[in-house]
Amino acid sequence: MAGSADVVILGAGPAGLVLGNLLLRDGIDCVVLERASHAHVRQRTRAGFLAPATVRTLARHGLDEGLRKRGQEHGVCEFRTEDGRFRLDYGLLGKGEPHTVYPQHDLVTDLAALFLGVGGRILFDTEVLDVTGVDGPRPSVTVREPDGRTARWRARYVAACDGRHGAGRRSLPPRAVRRHHRDHGVSWLGLLAEAPPSLDAVGYATHPRGFAGHMARSPEVTRYYLQCPRGTETGDWSGDRVWEELELRLRASEFGPLMRGRVLRSTVVDFESDVLEPLRHGSLFLVGDAASLISPSAAKGANLAVLEAEILARALADDLHHGDAEGLDRYSARCLEHIWRAQEFSHWMIQLLHRVPGPDGGASPFQEGLRRARMAELRNSPTRQNWFAEHYVGV
Ligand code: FAD
Repeated sequence: MAGSADVVILGAGPAGLVLGNLLLRDGIDCVVLERASHAHVRQRTRAGFLAPATVRTLARHGLDEGLRKRGQEHGVCEFRTEDGRFRLDYGLLGKGEPHTVYPQHDLVTDLAALFLGVGGRILFDTEVLDVTGVDGPRPSVTVREPDGRTARWRARYVAACDGRHGAGRRSLPPRAVRRHHRDHGVSWLGLLAEAPPSLDAVGYATHPRGFAGHMARSPEVTRYYLQCPRGTETGDWSGDRVWEELELRLRASEFGPLMRGRVLRSTVVDFESDVLEPLRHGSLFLVGDAASLISPSAAKGANLAVLEAEILARALADDLHHGDAEGLDRYSARCLEHIWRAQEFSHWMIQLLHRVPGPDGGASPFQEGLRRARMAELRNSPTRQNWFAEHYVGV
């Protein structure tokens, strides 16, 4: 037996670390079990765009020092299309709120430091193998410890914050939850470049050769995305080829050059979405990407993870401190409402930005006509622009 805690949290990503911090501040005994090393977790580059609601949540609980100091407000999108370019000042439209750009690995680094600083336990290099006994009052979590030995943690509740391939999902009994899945047929090559941003806006380019995106991360580093065929490997793209393709699709010759730089990291992301329903089975709760995978086109995943972690932390505190289980009973329904809304907007963004390949590999002219009409409406209709702004920054 390795130990016990009231709440055992699987995974030290945004979901697990926000949950851990909130529980510990509420005096609830918890432990975070993380497969990767501390160094790996601190370097894993992923999200960057935080919604105003996420920033407020982090501020409310005193978890925002780093992002207050180093985060940058961002409120403009530039669309570059076959019909020219247009900009949306989305930070002034809708509810008038911008994003805060703060790299996810910085947020995770801050959250881990804050948790450890108040005596929290994170066991790195500790892989969760399975979770058993979730139908009863004392579930247990089997782990492989850093020395390779297996050990077991006992809990009252288990929070699976370990992503789509984690042990939380795997441990659900067959038919305990339904999985609604969509493969969007689109893939992105995601690049992190050691180069200052080339635009003062998020850049979204639609082009006959596919989508290209530009997102500032910091004054020295910029994220770029290139739509690529399914099955693409990162090695297929050399540095020069990447920059030539980005310049072509972002129409650099027409709208201004790109600041080139060394490609620090590249990954391929296949656009898939899923939603699990319900998000609870007995004493096991699904949070963040473990609950629902959302394609990165609308930058919602980390934001949903923080929101769900806050909802679950409050519900666990009501139950463990006051014996009030209502919040836990409502957890799944409350989160699913947000998740489906985010999925809907993300789906709309995919349809806006991509020629989605059909079964024969090409986009149908009908789909392409709808896509261009959608883009024209966004360009011309103030009502659509306000709708976009509200949903783009909302969770
Ligand atoms: P994760 O961050 O995946 O954390 C899960 C943790 O569990 C990991 O540390 C993992 O090592 C650990 N783990 C897994 N299995 C086990 C196991 N068996 N035992 C122990 N530990 C385990 N979202 C946004 O909101 N805004 C954006 O701008 C944005 N951009 C993105 C860009 C890209 C290219 C990608 C891929 C994603 C982006 N996202 C964005 C999505 C966002 O990164 C994720 O939704 C977010 O990381 C989910 O947080 P999480 O804590 O649920 O899961």
